[in-house]
Amino acid sequence: MIGAGIQGAALAREAAVRGLSTLLLESRDIAAGTSSRSSRLVHGGLRYLRNGHFALVKEALHERERLLRLAPHLVRALPMLMPFYRDSGVARWQMRLGTWMYSRLAGRSTLPRSRLLSTTAAAQAFPGLRTTGLKSALEFYDARTQDARLTLANVVAAVEAGCTLVNHAEVVGVHDGGVQVLDRVSDVEVAIQGKVILNAAGAAVDAVRRRCGIEAENLVRLSRGSHVVLPPRAGELALAAFLPDERIQFVIPHDGGTLCGTTDVDDDLAGDESAPPVADLDYLREALGYVLEQKPEPSDVKFAYAGWRALPRGKGPPGSLNREAFIVAEQVPGGELHTVVGGKLTTHRSFAERTIAKVFGTVGPSPTRTQALPGGAGPREVDDPLWWRHGSRVGQIRSLVVDDMQMAEQLCMHRPFVIGELVHALRNLAAVTFADLMLRRLVHVLGPCLQDGCLRRAHGWFVRERQWPVDDDCDVAVASVRDGTRAVSGDLDAWRKASSSESNEQEQA
Ligand SMILES: Cc1cc2nc3c(=O)[nH]c(=O)nc-3n(C[C@H](O)[C@H](O)[C@H](O)COP(=O)(O)OP(=O)(O)OC[C@H]3O[C@@H](n4cnc5c(N)ncnc54)[C@H](O)[C@@H]3O)c2cc1C
Repeated sequence: MIGAGIQGAALAREAAVRGLSTLLLESRDIAAGTSSRSSRLVHGGLRYLRNGHFALVKEALHERERLLRLAPHLVRALPMLMPFYRDSGVARWQMRLGTWMYSRLAGRSTLPRSRLLSTTAAAQAFPGLRTTGLKSALEFYDARTQDARLTLANVVAAVEAGCTLVNHAEVVGVHDGGVQVLDRVSDVEVAIQGKVILNAAGAAVDAVRRRCGIEAENLVRLSRGSHVVLPPRAGELALAAFLPDERIQFVIPHDGGTLCGTTDVDDDLAGDESAPPVADLDYLREALGYVLEQKPEPSDVKFAYAGWRALPRGKGPPGSLNREAFIVAEQVPGGELHTVVGGKLTTHRSFAERTIAKVFGTVGPSPTRTQALPGGAGPREVDDPLWWRHGSRVGQIRSLVVDDMQMAEQLCMHRPFVIGELVHALRNLAAVTFADLMLRRLVHVLGPCLQDGCLRRAHGWFVRERQWPVDDDCDVAVASVRDGTRAVSGDLDAWRKASSSESNEQEQA
C-alpha cells in the first residue's frame, strides 16, 4: 500500500482485518498530505446534492452515522446554521428541499432533524452573523472530526490487525515482483516483494504511476482548497453559508480556534503540498466578510493551510466533479498497480471495503462495519479533554501517570497536551522525527506552539523517549518544526503586514 493518508490507512486496515499480508509505505509521515488539511467534516455534503451526486451523499451519511458510533471521541455531532441571504444565489425552497433530501438519504439517524429559524433567532444563535439581507436560516446537523487523528486511528487499527507500517519510506519505482523503496531516514534504497500494489498517494498518484513506468495520461485533476483559522468562538454552532459564487463558506468551531474555508481552485501541484497562496487568504477574508458582520482583520488569522483534492479528470469547474472514489488497474512489471482516484475523508471505510473486495475477492460484510476504531469502545468520558483525543485508550496515558506524576504535567501553557501524550506518541504511535511528533501527533487547530522555550522543553522529552537516532541537535530539530509549520501555513506575518497596510491605505483614501 502506497501512502498513509486516510485512503491508504483505511485500505491497509481493511486488508489486514481480512487476513491479507499488508505493508503500508509512507514517504513522509501519517497524514502528512491532504488528510491533515481538510475541512474536518464528516458529512454527506449538501453541496453535492445540487450536482445530483445522490449515491455519494447517501453513502457518506450512512458512514457518518457509523463513525459517530464507532469513533465517538473522533467524530462528534456538529450543529450547523445555514443562513439564507437575498443575494446568496440559492432559493430558500432549494435549501429546504436540500435538507429534507439530506435527512431522507441519511435514513435512521441519531442526529436531530433540521429546523427553520427566523432572522432574529439566527442572529441570536450565531453572534456576529451578518444580518443585512438575511431572510431566514436553517439549522441542521452534520459531524466534525480531527482528520489527522482519524487517519492515525485507522493506521493503529491496521497495525493491530497485522499490517506493517513504515513511514519515511518513499516508493521510487517498481521491479519485477514488487517496489523499490527509499528509506528517507537512512537514505538506503531497498527492494520489497509484493504481489499487488495499491497506489493511495493522494495528489501524488500520477507521480507514483510515472515512477512505476506508466506513461498514460494523468488520472487525476488537482484542485487546491485553503483554510484559515480565526480565534476560538464560544459554543458549538458552525456556519455553512452559500456564497454568490455558489461555493459554501464554512465557519467551524474547534478547541482553540475557528476553522474557516475553503477554496476550490485548479492547481497542478509540482512536489509536495504547499501553503495557501496570498490570493486564497484574501479570498477567504472577503468571503468571511460576506457571512460575518465584521470582516476579520489580517491579525485575526492565526493559522492557515491548503490541501489538494485528487479529482477524477473531467470538464467543468472543480466544484462540479464527483467526489466518489474509484480505482484504476494498470499493468506494471511483475503485476498490477491499482490507483485510487478521488474520495472523501467521510467514506474512507466503505470505499476500502469495496476496493479490497474488488481487488482480492473478499466476500461478505467487512468486520470494520461494526468494529470500533481504536479508542472508540468503552465508556464516554466527555468531561475529560484527554478522552476527546484518545477515547477509551486514555488509560494508556493514565498508566504512565501512575508511574511518573510528571506525565500529567502540561507540556507548555499554550497547547493542552500533557507530557504523557508526547511519551505515548513516541512509544506507540510511530512518531519518528521531532516534526512528526509536534506537527502530526500533538495535533492542534493552530498548529504547534512555536515558542522557543516550549519547543526546547519538548525536544528534551523527545530525545529521552525517541525510538530512532534522529534529530539529536536541539537547534536543528526546533528549526525543522518551524520550517515544517511555515511550509504548511506560509509566511502569515508577511501577508498580515501587506494586508494591513493595504486596508489602511484604502481607509485613508
Ligand atoms: C480543502 C479540502 C477540504 C476537504 N474537506 C473534507 C471534509 O470536510 N470531509 C471529507 O470527508 N473530505 C474532505 N476532503 C477530502 C479528503 O480530505 C481527501 O479526499 C483525503 O484526505 C485524501 O486522502 P488520501 O489518502 O487520498 O491522500 P493524502 O492524505 O494526500 O495521502 C497520500 C499520502 O501518500 C504519500 N505519498 C505520496 N507519494 C508517495 C510515495 N512515492 N511513496 C510513499 N508515500 C507517498 C503522501 O506523503 C501522503 O501522506 C477535503 C479535501 C480538501 C483538499
